[in-house]
Amino acid sequence: MEDIQRQLRAIPSMDKLLALALAQPEMAAIPHAVLVRFLRQTIDEIRRQILDKQLSEISAEVILAQLREILGQAMKPSLKRVINATGVVLHTNLGRAPLSARARERLLDIAEGYSTLEYDVTRGERGSRYSHVASQICALTGAEAAIVVNNNAAAVMLVLSALACGREVIVSRGQLVEIGGSFRVPDVLRQSGAFLIEVGTTNKTHNKDYEQAIGPNTAAILKVHTSNYRIIGFTAQPSDEELVQLAHRHNLPVIDDLGSGTLVPLTADGWREPTVNERLVAGVDVVTFSCDKLFGGAQAGIIAGKKEYIARMQKHPLLRAIRIDKLCLAAIEGTLLDYAVGDPLSDIPVQSMLHTAPAELEERAQRLAADINTLDCGYEVAVISIHSQAGGGALPAANLDGYGVSLKTSKLSTAAFEEKLRNQATPVIVRIYDDQIIFDVRCLSDRDLTKICDILASFDNGVTK
Ligand SMILES: *Cc1c(COP(=O)(O)O)cnc(C)c1O
Repeated sequence: MEDIQRQLRAIPSMDKLLALALAQPEMAAIPHAVLVRFLRQTIDEIRRQILDKQLSEISAEVILAQLREILGQAMKPSLKRVINATGVVLHTNLGRAPLSARARERLLDIAEGYSTLEYDVTRGERGSRYSHVASQICALTGAEAAIVVNNNAAAVMLVLSALACGREVIVSRGQLVEIGGSFRVPDVLRQSGAFLIEVGTTNKTHNKDYEQAIGPNTAAILKVHTSNYRIIGFTAQPSDEELVQLAHRHNLPVIDDLGSGTLVPLTADGWREPTVNERLVAGVDVVTFSCDKLFGGAQAGIIAGKKEYIARMQKHPLLRAIRIDKLCLAAIEGTLLDYAVGDPLSDIPVQSMLHTAPAELEERAQRLAADINTLDCGYEVAVISIHSQAGGGALPAANLDGYGVSLKTSKLSTAAFEEKLRNQATPVIVRIYDDQIIFDVRCLSDRDLTKICDILASFDNGVTK
């Protein structure tokens, strides 16, 4: 008891602790009031530890160390950068598309100040946020009109609400897709107020199936990109030409949820993603696609197509609830510039990662392996040829030829190793294959390679030796 009283009395005064904290270089810039608040929290914690007999020695150093810890926790962001060594280029859990230099530049510029978001400077009156990128999208896709909303899920919802609420929408049974994050075509349709009319079977849908389903209450035919599965074998879908002719004969629009939607042709492993322009040229009336998938930009959804349909969406009350924010809009404008005046295959990170030649990936993997060997930390290292994935609902099941570095150490199990990599200040997300850590180098920049080596070196020095 005496001991506890003595220890409690040994806690220095707030003034003293504050002066001491302010003398620390890393705390000097923190406002006084904030430091006082965190010091109080630290002292409360110290008192608790004394009463619980967890602390034997009280000193200013002990208190400062705990303050540093508490401050560090408070300042640590939850949303952090990670190093993507999975080889999945469009990894939804890892934030999909990294932004290009132009996109980042537009984003920073607009984030810093006021903007013409909804202001028409030539007329000096209210403008529309939807005006900024529409003409570029039309120029790049050949659409008559376009509108950008919060994401592609919202885009599909708006299209269906505006064109089909209270009426029927015909969808092939082979395309009743569920993508991650609970986006399921039947549920989205129901939410929009439209009624789903399923036609055909899982593997085969014929033009006559669509034809027989058309009635007085039909509003549209909806096609959905089978983003995360493939139906192969004994399969059939009508040609675009047939389907478009059928729909237009009945004055119905064909809507196509492209999911990823690419502006430039993309082929891999014998598969090909149709471009947005190709879909529109084929006669599809309205297409929707994500801006943070193959397009390679910030989160948004683009609706492009015939003017008469887009005009109905522009007037729909749902649009206000799913409107795009200015930061995404600014970034999207930067990415559109990459397509319009840049070299999209090298300027847009997603495109460049998808198009990196295997020889370049092999060279990168060899560089990483050599650098890890130079650390001389006893890692077993090998360069291996592997397959990466596009991800993000593009080229489902297509294998992209690539290279990786496999790693093993006798000091840690593969599972423990993977966990340590994941728990770094900059987490490294890897693949595990055949009980080995695999760094797929497709999505790794030179900076990432250096960082990985630094982390591997620190393991050996600090923890496992
Ligand atoms: C990804 C995807 C969506 C959802 O797009 P978000 O931009 O993530 O909202 C919708 N439909 C398909 C077919 C998709 O692949």
